[in-house]
Amino acid sequence: MQSKYFIITYGCQMNKADSERIAVALERKGYKEAPKKDGADLILVNMCSVRQSAVDRVYGLFPKFKTLKNKKPKLKTILTGCILKKDRQKFAKGFDQILKFKNLLKYSPTRAAAKGKEEDLSSSTKYREKSMAFVPISNGCNNFCSYCVVPFVRGPLVCRDHKEIIKETKNAIKQNFKEIWLLGQNVNDYQSPTNPKINFAKLLKMIDDIPNDFKILFTSPHPSNFSDELIDTLANCEKFGKYINLPVQSGDDKILRKMNRNYSVKEYKNLVKKIRAKITPVKLSTDAIVGFPGERKSQFRNTVKLFKKNKFDWAYISKYSPRPGTAAFKMKDSVPLIEKKKREKILREIIQQYAEKPNDLKPGVSPLKKLIVILGPTASGKSELAVKLAKKFNGEVISADSRQVYKGMDIGTGKITKKQMQNIPHHLLDVASPKRRFSVAQYRKLVLETLNKIFKKGKIPILCGGTGFYIQAVIDGIIIPEVKPDWRLRSDLEQLSTEELFNRLKKLDPKRAKTIDKKNRRRLIRALEIVIKTKKPVPVFKKEPLPYPVLILGIKKENEELKRLINKRLLKRLRQGMIEEVKKLRKSGVSWKRLEEFGLEYRFVAQYLQKKLKYDKMVNFLQKEIEHYAKRQITWFKKDKRIKWIKNQKGAEISIKNFLKNKQGSP
Ligand code: SF4
Repeated sequence: MQSKYFIITYGCQMNKADSERIAVALERKGYKEAPKKDGADLILVNMCSVRQSAVDRVYGLFPKFKTLKNKKPKLKTILTGCILKKDRQKFAKGFDQILKFKNLLKYSPTRAAAKGKEEDLSSSTKYREKSMAFVPISNGCNNFCSYCVVPFVRGPLVCRDHKEIIKETKNAIKQNFKEIWLLGQNVNDYQSPTNPKINFAKLLKMIDDIPNDFKILFTSPHPSNFSDELIDTLANCEKFGKYINLPVQSGDDKILRKMNRNYSVKEYKNLVKKIRAKITPVKLSTDAIVGFPGERKSQFRNTVKLFKKNKFDWAYISKYSPRPGTAAFKMKDSVPLIEKKKREKILREIIQQYAEKPNDLKPGVSPLKKLIVILGPTASGKSELAVKLAKKFNGEVISADSRQVYKGMDIGTGKITKKQMQNIPHHLLDVASPKRRFSVAQYRKLVLETLNKIFKKGKIPILCGGTGFYIQAVIDGIIIPEVKPDWRLRSDLEQLSTEELFNRLKKLDPKRAKTIDKKNRRRLIRALEIVIKTKKPVPVFKKEPLPYPVLILGIKKENEELKRLINKRLLKRLRQGMIEEVKKLRKSGVSWKRLEEFGLEYRFVAQYLQKKLKYDKMVNFLQKEIEHYAKRQITWFKKDKRIKWIKNQKGAEISIKNFLKNKQGSP
């Protein structure tokens, strides 16, 4: 049986990139990835002892290893990564082997079995992130900041050949990775070993010239290596992702000197000014250490001042922890933990005033937030198109259909099947019981949560459906007035015909009557409920639009074609068992009244099952009603001038490509 491996990574993006390469090495040796630790024959921990927290987490693994080894005595555990000598000794008893990363790659897994030659792992990797490819361009650092272990554990700066980097980048782009993250401990100190004229700026330019649709990002640069040439290059790079993490560490010159950072606060501020003047727009984050040995309150206040003045988009703040072997380790760790925590909190509070949400700017998490909407009348083929586009642009689909949220309502709502999804995640389907009401406010809340989850994965959300009101609630952030349902009043209003409901609303709130869908009983009743309960007209909805760019694509269909598609689909739904579906819903406790409220298929099939309609009449009414519904949808959509109407998939793809390329994101 094939042996299985499992890799645990505690560290930065560089460690993650290393783990991706280790995975390739192990797979070439014949190992297969295990989904969990429990199923593995080899557990490899790739860690970084820069932070105490990572060290603690590795210690935390020991009891688990013990249990696993009791079950599987042949299980092998290996530790690798950026480990201090001192930590290495401490970890020795917890692992079968501790290997330096360099040696791990030379170790048997990296040897070509047949030829006995060392394999070229430099451009062989197994990217773990869905849309991001981490491409290391250098390793190690020559700076020796006094608190940092990197120069000790990774050694001096060693840069990769620029040709190798370009090869790996092209390969990643070919595999459809949309963000290329160039990694290095001191990324902008890059110089190609085969052509010293190629520095970081030149390398960026070469990558920018690779044709295709992708973004370039990098981490971490050092302020002293941020040259004017680099700023100019970034300003002109079409594919630069407009995000820079520029670690400052402290806002006090004396502390910066003690940290051996090689720049002053003034120089740092000037650099930020230059960057912001030349690269527009740009998001800037920073790193800061609080409680460095000897940091007095007045010196910390200088960091506070710098934070207030610079208004960073985000900051990674850490409390100083002494790392053995570093120059700062010999200094007295004079700031008590409680004070460090206080200082950390102060900086965090400042940053939260200006910042995006933390994960929006985290390296490895897409800083690009854009939403694509696919809408159109019923039967126009939205779901199918959304799947195709999601496959092409690394997206996930969110349904914008007011009836598809309900469980058990599949055929009548044309809910996409598992097979049709083609492995593209779909959201907001089957999230509510048909016995209970599901409001547009609930829908909006769930969509906003889903959007954040999709962005965190670095993917593009595609909101797809035909319920214009739902789509508007999401993108324009219409805040629905909070008037609790009055069931008795609703039941009285239910007795009125649709026309009577509309006329009553026209009398009580003519303004709202002008904009409402006059055939939609549910909305008419809700509007009347608000007017009657509050004794005021329906308030102008408060708007809270999405803070990021939205592209709205509408599917255009000729009238005759749409009628034909509606008819074809209706007959198919009947063949597929729509009547059975309604019977099943009724059996599960959904009342006739509730079924009729859902409208269209559910209304007429419910009437047929109650013997209020003959079968042929039901089909005729349904065809007509669905056609009317499609017409109302088109009228609603036509009011929205932001919609870009497309005829086919190609048209959608062109629009999306431009939208994703565009700096501001406007279509
Ligand atoms: S530049 Fe960064 S990696 Fe290099 S020593 Fe300083 S903190 Fe460590």
